[in-house]
Parts: sequence; structure tokens; C-alpha cells
Amino acid sequence: MTATLIDGKELAGILRREVANRIAASAITPGLATVLVGDDPASGIYVASKRRLSVAAGIRDHHRHLPSDVTQGELERVVDELNSDAEVDGILVQLPLPAHLDTAAVIARIDPDKDVDGLTEVSAGRLALNRPGLQPCTPSGVIRLLDWVGVDIKGTRAVVVGRSDLVGRPQAQLLLARDATVTVCHRYTTDLASVTRTADILVVAAGVPRLVGAQHIKPGAAVIDVGIHRTDDGLCGDVDFDAARQVAGFVTPVPGGVGPMTIASLLQNTVTAAELHRRRR
Ligand code: NAD
Repeated sequence: MTATLIDGKELAGILRREVANRIAASAITPGLATVLVGDDPASGIYVASKRRLSVAAGIRDHHRHLPSDVTQGELERVVDELNSDAEVDGILVQLPLPAHLDTAAVIARIDPDKDVDGLTEVSAGRLALNRPGLQPCTPSGVIRLLDWVGVDIKGTRAVVVGRSDLVGRPQAQLLLARDATVTVCHRYTTDLASVTRTADILVVAAGVPRLVGAQHIKPGAAVIDVGIHRTDDGLCGDVDFDAARQVAGFVTPVPGGVGPMTIASLLQNTVTAAELHRRRR
């Protein structure tokens, strides 16, 4: 079997155009504040893409770049300012933060109604209770990819590899909310392949290059690779793509799979937050 490729770049382009149309059709100019601390090159590249694509869709840019030695108090004051700025609908603090900063405390400071990354305890609680709220960008992008290619999530067995706050845990919640039977694997899972082989939908977010090979995949499964790694041979994911495409029914490439969807979801969350704020005023 040769798997169908899921083109995240194409869907992300469609979703970004939808966002641009939603903004153009309304009297709202949403505002997004990205907060970058320090000069980590990868974080700089991610933030630059988020800003560029937001502006292209009609979102106003309220970027803040802070020095790597910013104190906890200074960073929290910036978050407080953005919380009370009526022009700012979404706040995204780019992670990871430098080691001297308390990430959980910074995230906790963000107004949940501006939490376009979906990382605050309030957002996570809403997701866990299946209530409306802003949801983490990468896992919601994964759900959109599955919907787009026509995978009917309801009633499937889904396995998520990874349990991070950013991807694995919210991914499991989103699949559960869509009536999948969900299993979560992590670094202490024994015999990973015996679990992943039960999956109709396999989402891999372990941060281990090519962790998942053909022996981990049920024939015909939808395999979504969240991982991204820079190697001497270029970019690769947590899934051995060449092996997976021989067994899976659907597979996402790296790059061009989940990555572009993360930014498209961020834009959607920002417009959703802006619409909510305008309704309240
Ligand atoms: P993380 O390091 O915070 O979490 C990794 C998780 O995988 C942990 O829960 C750990 O227990 C589990 N794990 C590690 N080794 C394992 C193993 N051998 N078997 C089973 N489980 C194992 O990482 P994260 O933030 O969730 O990111 C995961 C990957 O996704 C990374 O490669 C990251 O760069 C990538 N990522 C991509 C996007 C995107 O937009 N494409 C967004 C976020 C993260």
C-alpha cells in the first residue's frame, strides 16, 4: 500500500485565506502580540513566520522582543500590559523561555481569553471538560488535517505518542472530544509498537527522530507526524516517512504536514478571540 500524502501546506493556505476573508468581511482588526525573549535562532524563525503570516491575513502586529536577561518581573509586567491593552486580542509567549525564567508562572499570567496558544490552566481545563475555549494550535491543526482528508474520527482507536502540555495531552483530549478511543504513550510505555499497532489514527509527538517505523503502524492507519528535527540530511520527523508510506493509509510529510497548520490555527484562534472581545464590549 502507498499512503495518501496529507498536504498540510495546502490546507494551511486555505485556512489562512478563510481567516483573511473573515477579517475583511468584518469591521474587526484583530491584534496579536508575540513575545520573544532572547535570540534563539529557531524561536526567532518561528516568531517571524507567525508575524508575517498574521499580518498578511490582516492581523495587527504587536510584537515584543525582550533581552535574554529579562527578569521574571519585567516579563510578567509586559504580559500584564498586553492583557490590559484593548488592541491586543491574542498573546503568544514563544517557548522555550531562557532557563532562569519560570515558564508556568508567565503562562499563568496570560488572560485566558487572549490565550491563543491554549496553554493556560483555564484553557486546558475547558478542553478537558469539553467546553468552548481557545485550544492549542498544533493539536487542533492535526484534527483539521484528519477532517480535511475525510478520516472519520468517531469510534476509531487513536494512539498519541507523547504527553507534553503543548501537544500530546491536548491532542488526546481533542481526539476524545471527537469520540475516539484514545491511548496515550510516553517515554515509560513498554513495547511501544504493540500499542501503536492498534491505532487507526496515530499521532506522534515524541521529539525523537524517526522513532516510529513500519512495525509500529497498523496497515491503512492515518499517521500524523508532529515531530520536526534538523539533521545532516535535512528535516525529518518522529516517523520514518519512507517506511510509513508503505504501510499507512494516510501520512503527513515533514516538512509540509503539521507545521504549517500550527500557524494557521494560531491565526484562527486570534480572530476567534477578537470576535469574542468585540461581542463583549
Ligand atoms: P516534549 O519533549 O515536551 O514531549 C515529548 C513527549 O514524548 C514526552 O511526553 C515523552 O514522555 C514522550 N517520549 C519521549 N520519548 C519517547 C519514546 N521513546 N517513546 C514514547 N514516548 C516518548 O515535546 P513536544 O513539545 O510535545 O514536541 C514533540 C515534537 O513535536 C518535537 O519534535 C517538536 O519539535 C515537535 N513540535 C512540532 C510542532 C509543529 O508545529 N510542527 C509544534 C510543537 C512541537
